[in-house]
Amino acid sequence: MSLSASELERYDRQIRIPGFGVEGQMKLKNSKVAVVGVGGLGCAVSIYLVAAGVGRVVLIDKEKFELNNLNRQVLGYQSDLGKLKVEAAKAKLKELNPEVEVEAVPVELSERNIDKVISNMDIVVDCLDNWETRLLINDYCVSKNIPLIHAAVSEFYGQITTVIPGRGPCLRCVFHKIPTIQTEVIPIIGAVPGVLASLEVVEAIKLLTGIGEPLVGRILFLDFRRMSFDIIQLSKREDCPTCDETTS
Ligand SMILES: [Zn+2]
Repeated sequence: MSLSASELERYDRQIRIPGFGVEGQMKLKNSKVAVVGVGGLGCAVSIYLVAAGVGRVVLIDKEKFELNNLNRQVLGYQSDLGKLKVEAAKAKLKELNPEVEVEAVPVELSERNIDKVISNMDIVVDCLDNWETRLLINDYCVSKNIPLIHAAVSEFYGQITTVIPGRGPCLRCVFHKIPTIQTEVIPIIGAVPGVLASLEVVEAIKLLTGIGEPLVGRILFLDFRRMSFDIIQLSKREDCPTCDETTS
């Protein structure tokens, strides 16, 4: 497999980056990435993954677009209200870049379906708004050795870290006291998930191409009220039930 003339032109500005090149572009083309949650984070994540030329992007979300989504979920337009998010998003992403495959999976991930949906992924991107499903994908990714890029947002605040099984802590190592399962509405400025989504995609592209240092064993906290960005070192937890099972 190689790149066509139109692909070489489409991706010209990233191919020119020293160390990226046609080889880096081919790695993206041969990659499969799952976007779990097509909300404020997932819409922006899937736009940048598709624009960058990731060969197969799988969108997972069972919800339909509602009017109160539209301050942040940038693939949802007025005319999409009431439509499945994954279907409306797929239609726009195919227009953005017909060179890549976009798959729409209108389900909520659960223990029953997770293996079928994300087992052959190269990377899973956490674009969720609840810890229950987030920990489900954490445990699954660690058990299958799939890198997981985590982000979470609320109000003017965001956080991001990367889990590479065997190389650093998982989400359960870090968040052993899980925030109470949220059922209430999370208030949010739309641009905040935009920033975190961009960071998640930069991280995904780095992992897929082998460029740079991933955010493993570190978490970046962003407080946009103060415009302060802080990195905290993380370590594996001795008695983490998720890591224990795979390393013993
Ligand atoms: Zn762990």
